[in-house]
Order: sequence, then structure tokens, then C-alpha cells
Amino acid sequence: MSLPSRNAVVPFVSVDNMMRLVLHVGIEQMMVELAEAIEADFHRWPQFDKTPRVASHSDIGVIELMPTSDGKHYGFKYVNGHPANMRQGLQTVTAFGVLADVATGYPLLLSEMTILTALRTAATSAMAAKWLAPRDSRVMAMIGNGAQAEFQALAMKAICGIEEVRLYDLDPAATRKCTANLAGRGLRVTQCETAEDAILGAQIITTCTADKQYATILTDNMVGGGVHINAVGGDCPGKTELHRDILLRAGIFVEYPPQTRIEGEIQQLAADHPVTELWEVITGSAPGRTGAGQVTLFDSVGFAIEDFSALRYIHARLQGTGLFQELDMIADPDESRDLFGMLCRAEAAARVA
Ligand code: NAD
Repeated sequence: MSLPSRNAVVPFVSVDNMMRLVLHVGIEQMMVELAEAIEADFHRWPQFDKTPRVASHSDIGVIELMPTSDGKHYGFKYVNGHPANMRQGLQTVTAFGVLADVATGYPLLLSEMTILTALRTAATSAMAAKWLAPRDSRVMAMIGNGAQAEFQALAMKAICGIEEVRLYDLDPAATRKCTANLAGRGLRVTQCETAEDAILGAQIITTCTADKQYATILTDNMVGGGVHINAVGGDCPGKTELHRDILLRAGIFVEYPPQTRIEGEIQQLAADHPVTELWEVITGSAPGRTGAGQVTLFDSVGFAIEDFSALRYIHARLQGTGLFQELDMIADPDESRDLFGMLCRAEAAARVA
């Protein structure tokens, strides 16, 4: 089934249809394709409107809007982060988003983005690791085995060739869940008792924990030379995962510095501490890893362009699948200025019925 031709009908991708689309494409294949879409947009980074996301904080979480545009399309994501939700059986992170046509301002797509965020975050992590991690990386540590974890591990397998994932979470039930979900997916899975144990022999260390505080998941003495750290969980003011001393000796790579300086691990550093923008590494205008002994850190917070790429990818991938519903979301009077007349005709029709 083709996407609707009438502008006023907006295709909507529900959670159910997103899952069908992921299974139709294949989970790993979709993350490979998403990483390609994100990398292509990082290549044309200067073309985008960029702003740090608009955040509304409370004591227990944050609700954020993440807009961007390339002049042809506009996209935004609504996303929350509520670490305490998990204890009530709710997701820490939920999201939905819109892609729109800049020429008319009409929406082209409304989509669930809770699953899509997990996929795009994992694809972005693996894209960064492809550019920054040691070439022969085969072992990753996955610290924090919550909702994002399996996606992170499988993207590193599909894009970077990771063969073993070493799991650790404060809550052993999370590690058991992650182990069971990864069974039979081509990764050697090792459950670890401590974070120190998890990083043994790992060339890539991913931290993806959720806590609304300055946490210290990794201390400086735990981190040997030459590893790549992918710090995903610290993504809010007052919410970090790494000891500051690690940052002081690492080569730090970020998405959009004005946002990362507010939200990322580098909020612990001086405002002028040097960082490299990942898009510059991808376009070849800045170096990535500079030596085998260097610790590289991708201080991931999640940037609007990644969601924009993901929404455009889904919009293109939907073609011919029928995996959407048509939403009557935009008022569409026969004569564009006669919005009130449309209401009058509905009133008259209701009287007759
Ligand atoms: P989740 O609540 O499902 O899982 C978090 C896990 O971390 C839990 O299993 C918890 O037990 C564990 N944990 C908490 N403190 C720990 C500690 N000190 N040591 C080890 N484990 C610990 O959350 P999620 O959806 O997997 O998200 C994880 C984090 O990633 C959140 O902080 C979220 O905001 C962030 N996130 C970032 C991006 C990005 O683009 N950078 C995208 C999505 C989510």
C-alpha cells in the first residue's frame, strides 16, 4: 500500500506497526540502514537548523522537544526521561515524533518513537564506535541492562563486528532479562558481578544506566588505555556516569556541543574544554582516534538530527508495506478559507441524522 496522496491524511506508525516494520526489515539490518541514514545526514551537518533541545525538568524526570530542519523537511521528537518509572512498571524513556514538509508545513508522518529511539540510539553508538573504537574490537562491556541494552549490543555486532558482550547491572534481574533476549542472536554473552569484571578485556565500554544523579559507573583506575567508551546514560543536567578524571585524559567526541555541554558527561568540565564534533570526524575535517593507547569517549546525549534521519528513513521504508494507519489530523475544507463552513455543514448533517 502506498503512502496517502491527500496532504490532509497523515500516515501514523503505531507501536504495533513499528514492531512489524522492524521484523519485516530485520532488527540488525534496520540498525545498519539507520546508521547509514544518520551518517549521511552527519555528512551534511551544516545544512541543518540546530538548537539544544527544549527541556522541562521536574524533580523526578524531564520532558523534552527535539526539533530540526534541513530546509526541505522539518522533524521533532517528544521524549521523556523518568528513571523512577521503571519501579512502577513504566518505561524510563518514551517518545513519538513528527516529520513535516517545509514547503507547506503539513505533517508527512506521525510515528511512535520509543522503539525507534532505542534503534537510532544504538545505531548512533555503533556509527561512532565504527569511527573511534580500536579496529579489531571484538568484546564490549554493556553496563546498564535496561530497555536500551539489547539494541546497543546488536548494533555493535552488526556494525562493528562485536562477538562477545559482557553484561553488568545493579539489578541482576535486568542482566538475566538481557541474557535471555540475546540468546541465539550470534553474540557470546557473559554475565558479570561487577562493572570491573564487565570491562575486563573489552575494547568498547558502553554505559547506559538511568539515575537522576551524578553517578560514577566507571572510575579512572578502571579504564585502561586504548579503549572506546560509549557513554549513553548521562544525558541531563545533574545526570552523569563517568568520573571526571576519565574525561580529563580522554579524547572526547560529541554530537552538538551547545547541547552536550548542558547535558553530557562534559557538564563536569570547564565550558571551554576541547571536544571534537562527530560530524567533523565523519567528513574528515577533524581526526578521530589518534593512537592505539588513546581513550576515546563518545559523550552521547541524543541529538535531533538522529531522530530526523530516523523519521525520514521510516517514511521511505513504509512505502509499499501498508504498516501505517491513515489519520484524519489536518482540517481540509473544500474551499481553504471556509473552515467555519466545514463546521456548519457538519452541524447540518448531524441535525439530519
Ligand atoms: P532503563 O531504566 O530501562 O534501564 C536502566 C538500567 O540501569 C536499569 O536496569 C538499572 O538497574 C541500571 N542501573 C542504574 N544504576 C546503575 C548503576 N549504578 N550500575 C549499573 N546499572 C545501573 O533505562 P533505558 O531506557 O535503558 O535508558 C538508560 C539510559 O539511557 C537513561 O538514562 C536514558 O535517559 C538514556 N538514554 C540516552 C539516549 C541517548 O541518545 N544518549 C537515548 C535513550 C536513552
